[in-house]
Amino acid sequence: MNAETARGTGKTIRPADCPCGGAAPNQKSGAKAPRYAQCCGRFVDDAAVPATALELMRSRYTAYVLGDEAYLRSTWASETCPADLDVDPAAVGAPRWLGLAVKRHEQRDDTHAIVEFVARYKTGGRAFRLHETSRFTRGDDGRWRYVDGEVSSD
Ligand SMILES: [Zn+2]
Repeated sequence: MNAETARGTGKTIRPADCPCGGAAPNQKSGAKAPRYAQCCGRFVDDAAVPATALELMRSRYTAYVLGDEAYLRSTWASETCPADLDVDPAAVGAPRWLGLAVKRHEQRDDTHAIVEFVARYKTGGRAFRLHETSRFTRGDDGRWRYVDGEVSSD
């Protein structure tokens, strides 16, 4: 049995607590993580549509944790979605995501929003922070999608 069949084709096991931790601006430190099924699981697994760019951003972070490439593609603006996307958490050198903090969520108008966040991860035994301000647009279908992000070096 090779690694490919060991991983299987089905969904990976879902966590009880949501990996996103319910991150939001002004969230109290030490806040209890929401249940996955009541948080990002609604969007990643149950096809509910996030009402805000913040909900979408959290669910995309969670999809990275779970390695759900299909969800990431379906929530990425077609103009900017990369052809090459490898988010398999079991791959060699894949980042291990450790937590999400949201610093800012601004809905600028009906179809544009930004979310500034810090995602922590480990790879190759070293810890990193990804500090990004992401842009989102809402399409005619009412769905928010990720467009791109500006990474701050800090
Ligand atoms: Zn969540």
